[in-house]
Amino acid sequence: MVSSRTRHSLFEAGFRAAAATGANRWLAPLARGRGVILTFHHVVPEPPAAFAPNRLLAITPDFLDATLRELAAAGFDLVGLDAVPQRLAEPGPPFAVLTFDDGYRDNLVHAAPVLRRHGAPWTLFVTGDFADQRGRLWWVELERAVARLDRVPLRPGLPDLPARSPAEKTRAFETVYRTLRAGPEARLLDAVAELCGRAGFAPGGVAAELCLTWAELRDLGRDPAVTFGAHTRSHPMLAKHGRDTAAREVAEGRDRLAAELARPVRHLSYPVGDPGSAGAREFALAREMGFATGVTTRPGHLFAGHADHLHALPRVSVNGCHQNRAALRGLLSGVPFLAWNRGRRLHVA
Ligand SMILES: [Zn+2]
Repeated sequence: MVSSRTRHSLFEAGFRAAAATGANRWLAPLARGRGVILTFHHVVPEPPAAFAPNRLLAITPDFLDATLRELAAAGFDLVGLDAVPQRLAEPGPPFAVLTFDDGYRDNLVHAAPVLRRHGAPWTLFVTGDFADQRGRLWWVELERAVARLDRVPLRPGLPDLPARSPAEKTRAFETVYRTLRAGPEARLLDAVAELCGRAGFAPGGVAAELCLTWAELRDLGRDPAVTFGAHTRSHPMLAKHGRDTAAREVAEGRDRLAAELARPVRHLSYPVGDPGSAGAREFALAREMGFATGVTTRPGHLFAGHADHLHALPRVSVNGCHQNRAALRGLLSGVPFLAWNRGRRLHVA
């Protein structure tokens, strides 16, 4: 999952400004990198419900198709993650890498047929516990708990947050999400489990419903277009934990995946992937453990300088809240990221 919840309005403003001023045209030579790694999560045909705070993580198969057509029209080569170091090192046509995080079953059902039609290589980042049909997709659990509750307790001594209408539920979700994300991971998991209990369901059941099993992953692995990458054992925000725990999470996630699929695992996606979840320590860890690349959710294009920072690569999230051509063009132009990264091409510390 990504951390870009607060970025919608920024991007939206950026797209509008760029469209209004024609800024895309004159900023493009500055903003567009050598390539771009796109991030996807769910691909589902159904429109989101009125209360769907995780909707940014889901696009439709039609929009995936539109994205692939737009990439082709803009002259991007589709390449696998393995090709990134080489492509960064030498000038050439722009390239795009398609990555899917967490290992959702809808990727097999709804994304794979579209990707196959376009002959597109893609990478699936798998969390071991999710493939084991356990673990905590706590952001989904939180959404489901708030959907069922009329009032959401935030912390003792404070009044409950009202959650009757979709608008109230959205506000309650955002408040709880923001508060818990800022604190320790154990407290977040306990608090979400407590809300699940109040809402009348047990935490921990989401993975079996939403995530691919090892057997399904092995089936998918017969497709040579698919590369598998590691996404840890249990999906923790690594930087919030001690070094030993972080190293164990990454190693166990990789080793299990390699054993189940009988192939080497060369790429790592840091769970959540923002600077609060993955920083210099995690980048060094990934390098020391021999990964060829490590991908974050820090937004941005890839520039030649990233060849020296292959374990701190930015990505561009294809956001379910902005499934339109203007947004796509904005993302591929790189212009919105110039502002986000304050003009820096590299944001790797
Ligand atoms: Zn994830």
